[in-house]
Amino acid sequence: MRSEGQFVLIITGLLLACRQPSILNHAERNGFLMDTVVRISLYDSRSHEELERRADELFEYMLGIEKKVSLYFEDSDPQRLASASGSGQFISISHETEIILKEAMGAFKESNGAFDVTIGPLKKLWGFDSGNYRIPDSSEIAAYLELGDFKDLEVRNGEARITRQGLGIDLGGIAKGYILDAAVLWLQEKGIQSGLIEGGGDLRVFGPHPKRDLWRIGIQDPRNERGTLIGIVSLKNQSIATSGDYERYFIRNGRRYHHILDPQTGFPSSKAISVTIIAPNALLADAYATAVFVMGPDKGITLLNRLPDIEGLIVYDNGNGLSYGLSKKAGAMIEMEK
Ligand code: ADP
Ligand code: MG
Repeated sequence: MRSEGQFVLIITGLLLACRQPSILNHAERNGFLMDTVVRISLYDSRSHEELERRADELFEYMLGIEKKVSLYFEDSDPQRLASASGSGQFISISHETEIILKEAMGAFKESNGAFDVTIGPLKKLWGFDSGNYRIPDSSEIAAYLELGDFKDLEVRNGEARITRQGLGIDLGGIAKGYILDAAVLWLQEKGIQSGLIEGGGDLRVFGPHPKRDLWRIGIQDPRNERGTLIGIVSLKNQSIATSGDYERYFIRNGRRYHHILDPQTGFPSSKAISVTIIAPNALLADAYATAVFVMGPDKGITLLNRLPDIEGLIVYDNGNGLSYGLSKKAGAMIEMEK
């Protein structure tokens, strides 16, 4: 017995010796994906060159997913689903689109339809797909509202169909989160120790921060210059996403029209200015940032308080100026600046 114990001790000692912290190298790469700049920051004991090479491979991997799930690529799943809409035919879809659609259905139900990826045709009416912004006629909005919703999409093993002709999906409110999660999984499979990946207001960290274990992430003030913060969050293996009316918008007759659309009215939601969500993964953070934005402070905070592990901050206009609301646990997670 005694010698066995000693043996175990020696083995443990050897293992600890092998795991001596070695010098960490850092590599950072920027690329353009999903219509935004994506930043990858990696820390590991491998050489700087190897980390850079991994980051470049990762961009290729993410682009491969984007081509399947984005409406803006030829023959992508959303394009093929829209073309076959109303035909009754099931269309084969990628594993990635299938997962995104199932998660999107969860957010659709939880948000009572506020999060609905079938806003595809509506986004087009407003010109948010092309940048040729316009205010649709009331008849166009009415026709869209008649067109149906996410309940008109059916998913089964490896295939899906849209039962109403003319309806289509745009995964812009959730796919970015999915792709960031897939990227982190890929990096972890390659054994990369820690890092951060961000793009267009969505961010995910993994592994310990090289200096202080937790990652400190700033939250943008929606009505001030980029870099002005309203709060700071400490994260560990988590994600944070912000949706704001300041990201993609146009102004007509003094009014701001932005790309977060209320599927019930057909108009940009005016119930929020920005929403920041902290969640265990980027897909949830991304989808619920959009969902809570559409729902506004009352319903949005009620939803967050019901969902375990999803916390958030909403900035909105109370009629006299800006106010903010926090979900129950968000108060302890976010250090507000003022
Ligand atoms: P960003 O892309 O600026 O980070 P979001 O994550 O909020 O912002 O995504 C906005 C995108 O989400 C829109 O461009 C559109 O593709 C999609 N979207 C807009 N409104 C909704 C909605 N109500 N439900 C689901 N997706 C939406
Ligand atoms: Mg989103």
